[in-house]
Amino acid sequence: MSNPQLVPSSASAQSDLDSETVDEEIVIQRKNTLLMIPDIFTQLPPVRDSLATQTSQLQDDTVGKCLPLLSGEDELAEYNEHGLPRLDRARHVKFLHKNLAKLPGRFVAADSSRPWFLYWCLAALTMLGEDVSSYQEAVIETARSMQNDTGGFGGGNGQLSHMATTYAVVLALALVGGEKAFEVIDRRAMWRWLSSLKQPDGGFQVCLGGEEDIRGAYCASVIISLLQLPLNLAPESPAWTEDGSSDLLTGVAEYVRRCQTFEGGISGQPNAEAHGAYAFCALGCLALLDHPGRIFQRYLDIPRLVAWLSSRQYAPEGGFSGRTNKLVDGCYSHWVGGCFPLIQACLNNIASGNDGTEAAYNAAGTGASCTLPPAPETLFSREGLMRYILCCCQDQSERGGLRDKPGKMADAYHSCYVLAGLSSAQHDWDLEEPTAAEEISATADPVWAVLPHLEQIFDRRDLVRPIHPVYAIPQQNARAIKDYFRAKQGF
Ligand SMILES: [Zn+2]
Repeated sequence: MSNPQLVPSSASAQSDLDSETVDEEIVIQRKNTLLMIPDIFTQLPPVRDSLATQTSQLQDDTVGKCLPLLSGEDELAEYNEHGLPRLDRARHVKFLHKNLAKLPGRFVAADSSRPWFLYWCLAALTMLGEDVSSYQEAVIETARSMQNDTGGFGGGNGQLSHMATTYAVVLALALVGGEKAFEVIDRRAMWRWLSSLKQPDGGFQVCLGGEEDIRGAYCASVIISLLQLPLNLAPESPAWTEDGSSDLLTGVAEYVRRCQTFEGGISGQPNAEAHGAYAFCALGCLALLDHPGRIFQRYLDIPRLVAWLSSRQYAPEGGFSGRTNKLVDGCYSHWVGGCFPLIQACLNNIASGNDGTEAAYNAAGTGASCTLPPAPETLFSREGLMRYILCCCQDQSERGGLRDKPGKMADAYHSCYVLAGLSSAQHDWDLEEPTAAEEISATADPVWAVLPHLEQIFDRRDLVRPIHPVYAIPQQNARAIKDYFRAKQGF
């Protein structure tokens, strides 16, 4: 008979041995994983400025938080052979549904952003492959309560109409879809309200008496386009002219041109600082006015813009910053990353000779001529962006959701725009047929062709759904609402 006391002790020795073997295996596995990660994402940048400032300290802190996650050392994550964690779809879906339900008291400060929560969560769920039609009734009722008789939507019942909240409501209605949702919108009042915001210099105020900036121009262009509004101005518009020579889109492209800064990026208003989100607004605006292959080079200095956009991507982090000398932030995966499909469409069109111009390119009215190089396969490191998103932007706790950077809480805003950036990085976009349309209310839309990008380092099951490069909702949702209103006679 064996000593009963020995049984447990020998079992425990065996289990120690087992766990040591397992630990060793994990270490070997982790080392192998490291081999699959390019050095640029696991090491400090080779060139460093020796001047220490508050900004350089913040940058070092951020790199310090990102490096272990990028190097395959996150205990909570399960890495693939390229050292990338899986997209935690189920947890993110749960997080987004929770953000569409009743929110805790601390969210009271975000009350006027309720339309944004609708758009962010519905768009993010859609990108994750979820069917959001079950929210149709709730979105319709909420949108009705936010619409003003004077046109547009406020952030809540009785709140002033604002361009940003109106944009968000229109996109949310397009996402849930259907005639009942589209019919919520009072298009005649919307047309009058947008006319009253249109300024003689081509731009739009964001609300009556409010600031005029490029967000206003982008949101207005999207709303006019999706709702197929007539372009003539209501007589109460500050931009109205007796001879009828001015309409809702007159001078928009010139306004955008005035927002390109000395750095090459785009600012919110003329003579301000270049910012990633405004770059997306600028390109989105122009892409609605004409094919990017024609209009971008007419109004922007593209080489300088591309240089500025590319400089927003950092190593080792792989993500984008929004401004010069700022930190990486997940939301710029869309605001900056989302510029590249539009630029790519522009360069592809020029390379194929469809733009109708000579090879010589006049740098946006500067008088300086140069020749645009052929479009490279990709204008930014897709791998870097995917690594930042999947390694650093996923909240690996039970809570789920996506975030700005390690150490920050996940939220609906970042979940939406991080996923939109992932979608841009995972797909190749091109405008299938250049349109000769001069106005955004042309009878036929150009069709964006989209395919998953071939060289992928992530698992196929982690592919997210593509979204329209300008409207930031799926292409079929944009088409459905446009077709519906295009078929209507008048308002
Ligand atoms: Zn952000």
